[in-house]
Amino acid sequence: MPSSYLSFKTPNQFSPKTILEWRIAQLVFWLIGVTILTCLLFYPTLGITLFWNILIPVAPALFVVGLGIWRNVCPLATTVLIPHHYGISKKRILSPTESGILNVMAVLLLFIIVPLRHAIFNSSGLATGLLIISMALTGMVLSLFFEWKSAWCSGLCPVHPVEKLYGGNTSTSFPNAHCHQCMNCVKPCPDSTPNIHPESSYKTRYHKLSGLLITGGLPGFIWGWFHVPDEKNSASVHTFISVYLWPLMGLFSTLILYMILKSFIRQEQKRFLVSVFAAAGVSCYYWYRIPALLGFGYEGNDGLLVNLRNIIPEWMITFCIIATTTFFFYWLVVRNPNKKSWVIRPTFAKGLSIKK
Ligand code: SF4
Repeated sequence: MPSSYLSFKTPNQFSPKTILEWRIAQLVFWLIGVTILTCLLFYPTLGITLFWNILIPVAPALFVVGLGIWRNVCPLATTVLIPHHYGISKKRILSPTESGILNVMAVLLLFIIVPLRHAIFNSSGLATGLLIISMALTGMVLSLFFEWKSAWCSGLCPVHPVEKLYGGNTSTSFPNAHCHQCMNCVKPCPDSTPNIHPESSYKTRYHKLSGLLITGGLPGFIWGWFHVPDEKNSASVHTFISVYLWPLMGLFSTLILYMILKSFIRQEQKRFLVSVFAAAGVSCYYWYRIPALLGFGYEGNDGLLVNLRNIIPEWMITFCIIATTTFFFYWLVVRNPNKKSWVIRPTFAKGLSIKK
């Protein structure tokens, strides 16, 4: 393990103790990630429960409240950034157009992969494990050539558009536990820009397109996704059509609504509209996910974690989903933007500044 991994070799505002604490957290979460991956491959029932019914349901709430924690400890990011920590990346800076194209591809990947959960991934630990391995390999290859998080964590990763939508008013900024120095590799840097959202960057038409698709499309996509049952016969063409139909219909419905509303509002109200759609997306997710996890789902036992149907009254579930919806609208829409970024930008490398 290189010494620069344990305490940044380059001058930085974070103390060695702070970096060491984050390194320990990264190691713990990386081991948890490897354990889940091992379970997916060799103990699929347990692996599917750990990944799809515990880790993934926690993620959206964490993105809303403390995304910087996830940006620092995500096991996939820790793996993908190994070439940087070992000093073997070519560290090329992406052009704005290349960066925008990766952002569009990330949104498309999200909308392609998530419906496949109903056809394949929710019932196959092996397929889910191979999906994670293929994403890690893709990210590592990109990381061999491109600077810090630009190509994967803030580029092609299909989770990143969701982070950007939900993380617009995070609670606090944590130290950046990956980038040794800021090389200004993503502009604007999603990690370091206070109250960033998907429509913040109008650098290229690709940035505009990715922002539009994720902000307008995600709430309807989530709503449609929860109206599709897990398919038992994943081999048929009909299955593949059916798992995309409702999510895409929902996606286009809210996308059109978003475009209409956007055309009526003033420029300074745009952030408010993005926040409403972000709150609608994450609230819709928990509106359906909490009942499904606890045995009150609309699609039988799909997404079941623990069956409490005969143990707690249904009004408690109703109370929970109203409470989470109220919380997310308060947090993202009612609360004033607090000018916090996900993580604190490390000191710039010599000669660089936010303008360069
Ligand atoms: S903090 Fe700087 S080096 Fe790190 S991802 Fe952001 S722009 Fe790139």
